[in-house]
Amino acid sequence: MDVAPASAAVELVALTKRYAHDGAPAVDGIDLRISSGSFCCLLGPSGCGKSTTLRMIAGHESVTTGDILLENRNITTLPAAARGTAMMFQSFALFPHLSALDNVAFSLKMKGVAKADRHRRAQDLLERVAMGHLVRRKPGELSGGQQQRVALARALITQPRVLLLDEPLSALDPFLRIQMRAELRRWQKELGLTFIHVTHSQEEAMALADTVVVMNQGRIEQVGTPHQVYNAPATEFIARFMGGHNVIDTEAGKVAVRNDHMLIAPSGAGTDALPGLAGTVTDVEYQGTYVLLGLRARDAAGIKDVSVMLPEARFADQPYSTGEAVHLSWAAGSAHALPA
Ligand code: ADP
Repeated sequence: MDVAPASAAVELVALTKRYAHDGAPAVDGIDLRISSGSFCCLLGPSGCGKSTTLRMIAGHESVTTGDILLENRNITTLPAAARGTAMMFQSFALFPHLSALDNVAFSLKMKGVAKADRHRRAQDLLERVAMGHLVRRKPGELSGGQQQRVALARALITQPRVLLLDEPLSALDPFLRIQMRAELRRWQKELGLTFIHVTHSQEEAMALADTVVVMNQGRIEQVGTPHQVYNAPATEFIARFMGGHNVIDTEAGKVAVRNDHMLIAPSGAGTDALPGLAGTVTDVEYQGTYVLLGLRARDAAGIKDVSVMLPEARFADQPYSTGEAVHLSWAAGSAHALPA
C-alpha cells in the first residue's frame, strides 16, 4: 500500500527543459520535493538552470518533459495565473507612478475586480505586512524594507500557495541586502507560506533556507539543510562552490576540510613528521574576528592553494607572516570524504 509522505507543496518529477532540440538541456531531468511551509533556495552558479526551473514552476516557460505538481495537482501545462503561484522579481519591480495600495491592487484590477473591493483587499494585506499607515505613498517615498513589504503584499493578493522569488535581493547594495533578507525570512515564517528562492549567493542561501538545492549544469548535486550542505558537501563542486573549504588529495582519497578546522603550526615546531601537508604562507588577511591565511601546500596530487581561518586571538598568540614555512593538518573527524 502506498503511504503518502509528508506533504509536499511542490514536486518536480524528471523535469527537463531543452531550449534547442540539439543542445544540452538547461534543466536535465530533475526530481525534487519541496515541503509545505518551507523556505527553499535553488543555489548554483550562473547558467546552471535555476531561473529556468523557477520559470517552469511559474508557468512562464514551457516544460520539455516531466511534471510539476502543486499540492498533488499536476500544473505542468496550466497557464501561470491558474497555478496558485506568484512571483517576486528582482528589485521588487514596483510601478513607480502607483501608490502602494494601487501596486498591491493591480492584479485584481486586471481581473476586473471592482475598485472598492480591490482596495479593501489591498488595504488588508498591507496591514498584514505592517504597511497599513503608508498605503498612499509611492515606491520612491518608501525605504527598501517598506518596498519589499509592498512587493510581498502585491504577490500575496492572488492568494498563492507558493511564492517564487527570482533573485529579489541581488541588485540591492550589500548593507540593504542583508537587512532585506532577514526581513524576508521573518515574513516567510510569519505567513507560513512556501517560498522558492533563486540565488547564486551561497551566503544568501545559507542565511535564508530551510532547504538548499545546489544545482550544477542543469542537475541537482545536493539537497540538504544549510548545515548539511556546508559541513558535508556531496561533491568536490559543492565544496568549492560553497567556499570556506580546502579540497585536498590524500593517499586515501580526496577530502574536504573546512578552513576554520585546519590545524597549523610553524615548521620545526615538532609536528612536521605528523600526517599533513608542508606549506608556505602567501597571504595574511585581517577579517575582523578572524585572520585568513592563504598558503601554497603540497598534497598527494601536487602543489595547490589552501586557506586557513584563524580566530584573531589565536593568531595573536602565534602570528604567521608571508613566506613562512608551516605544517598543516586536521583532525580525522574534520575530513569529509568526497567521491573521486
Ligand atoms: P541560471 O538561472 O542558473 O543562471 P538559467 O536557467 O538562466 O540559469 O540558464 C540555464 C541555461 O539555459 C543556460 O545555458 C542559458 O544560457 C540557457 N538559457 C536560459 N534561457 C534561455 C532562453 N530563453 N533561450 C535559450 N537558452 C536559454
